[in-house]
Amino acid sequence: MSKYTKILVAIDLSEDSTVVMERARAIADIEGAELHLLHVIEPLSFAYGGDIPMDFSSIQEEIQQQATQQMEKLVERYSIDSGNQHILLGKPEVEIHAKAEELQSQLIVVGSHGRYGLALLMGSTANGVLHGASCDVLAVRVGK
Ligand code: AMP
Repeated sequence: MSKYTKILVAIDLSEDSTVVMERARAIADIEGAELHLLHVIEPLSFAYGGDIPMDFSSIQEEIQQQATQQMEKLVERYSIDSGNQHILLGKPEVEIHAKAEELQSQLIVVGSHGRYGLALLMGSTANGVLHGASCDVLAVRVGK
């Protein structure tokens, strides 16, 4: 069985992200794989654009700055090459698939649930990633 050489871990920066990161780092170490870290920022205009006539650019910029700071901490803590961190704008599952294809990673690691909790058996992003992926997907069990 061939080893994973490139692994993409996608995190939403919620508090459970460390569980997902730790599992991804451990697998990458065992496999000797390159680990890439991805966070996707959903444009506020996706959610509110049609309904609220407001300029979201300064809030969006603030969100991006905070995400960049949090990602930098994770990159350092989990020894990820700075060139292997990615922050993208868009719909999480779409960008996760696109980045995995671009990198030709053989494994995507996500959490079973994210910031919206345990309402579903598996979170909607995790589900979306699993269904459209052309490589292996690991949903790390998070939450109580
Ligand atoms: P959810 O399905 O939204 O509950 O989230 C499940 C998992 O999908 C999270 O633990 C992350 O691994 C991943 N995920 C969710 N949202 C994002 C995001 N904005 N960027 C990157 N990964 C995400």
